[in-house]
Amino acid sequence: MISFDKAKSIVNKNITELDTESIDLIESGGRVLAEDIRATFDMPRFNNSAMDGFAVRASDLMRASKNKPIILKLIGGIAAGDSGDLSIGQGECTRCMTGAPIPRGADAIVIVEDTSGFEDKNEVKIFTESFSGKNIRYKGEEISNGDILIKKNQLISASEIGILASFGYAKVLVYRVPKIAIFATGDELLEPGEVLKDGKIYNSNLYIFSELVRQRGFNVVMKEVVNDSPESLRIFLSEALNNCDIIISSGGVSMGKYDYVRDIFMELGVEEHFWKVTQKPGKPLFFGTKSGKMIFGLPGNPVSSFLGFMVWVWPVFDRLMKVQKSQWIKAKLETPFPQEPIKTRFLFGKLFVKKENLMCTPSSKIGSHMLSSSLDANCIIKADPGQGDLQKGKDISVKLLPWKNLS
Ligand code: AMP
Ligand code: MG
Repeated sequence: MISFDKAKSIVNKNITELDTESIDLIESGGRVLAEDIRATFDMPRFNNSAMDGFAVRASDLMRASKNKPIILKLIGGIAAGDSGDLSIGQGECTRCMTGAPIPRGADAIVIVEDTSGFEDKNEVKIFTESFSGKNIRYKGEEISNGDILIKKNQLISASEIGILASFGYAKVLVYRVPKIAIFATGDELLEPGEVLKDGKIYNSNLYIFSELVRQRGFNVVMKEVVNDSPESLRIFLSEALNNCDIIISSGGVSMGKYDYVRDIFMELGVEEHFWKVTQKPGKPLFFGTKSGKMIFGLPGNPVSSFLGFMVWVWPVFDRLMKVQKSQWIKAKLETPFPQEPIKTRFLFGKLFVKKENLMCTPSSKIGSHMLSSSLDANCIIKADPGQGDLQKGKDISVKLLPWKNLS
């Protein structure tokens, strides 16, 4: 049996980084960039109009006003998308729409509302003065060619997709999403929808695992409830070891007569890094690797499985996706917490703000079979080993569940 901290550092040392793949931009939301993205041109790419109006020479419009408009000769028009191959001389102007290139010789745009309008064919009355640069978006004023736009390891969201699109990237290099195998063991397990029989219970853990993997945007490529028989485990696990990056199991890793999971992992060549951690719940935790694949054997009690997944597997998902790890932070206990003499103790709980203090209340249901302790929880509470209960008002470590908010 090893300590929580020692076990953590072993897991951290045995994470195999994922390789990369090139995917369509439109599919890249939620993925993580595996390369720096640079600007391949200036942004804006050319001087263009910020408004619908007329491209003018500001010096032609001195003292123009509503009462004393200045008349300019209209020599053409440029729409967004035109090449803009026009030039104006003294006393001349062109129509120039938002996003259209500025014609040579012009240095300002007068908005259409300050003119006699787009209807006039040959000349336009201008009702306002202007200045050089007015309503012009200059080449390179936002971003210069060659600038780093987005750094490697950035999670791709709407802003990154927008920037990638605006620089014409149709494909992006991202880290591959890990392929996950999950399985539950137990001859007692029935699926929701089946008729209950004596001694049987419904399988909840595989549903929790599925949802957690889905939350994360990863793919469950193998999922099964496996009998408590070495042969069934052998069949499932040898296929999972061939096809998946991470294997996560529930149950069958304790001291029971029918707990074969660990034996079969070892038989199939998995290197055991540890089995049993000084933690409660979930002491008989198995962690092993084989050819860069990570294997987590979580005990079957639903709270042990759920907390075990969040405490041991989720941070590995974070690492693979280059996400800043969600940290344990300190909160004050609102009610006592059942500390353990030699084990790190976890409970679901509620994190909230009271009079500008971060407070937490552990669930009053403390059994590892009591899944309803997770129902109105928004955090996991963790106490290092120590003597006696931690009393109200003491500081304790908490971590918000990633899909919940402070209450
Ligand atoms: P085990 O770790 O296999 O000894 O299981 C410990 C406890 O968790 C037993 O009471 C099991 O019936 C229960 N259990 C195991 N797997 C599941 C599951 N998938 N869903 C709900 N309870 C389970
Ligand atoms: Mg079992």
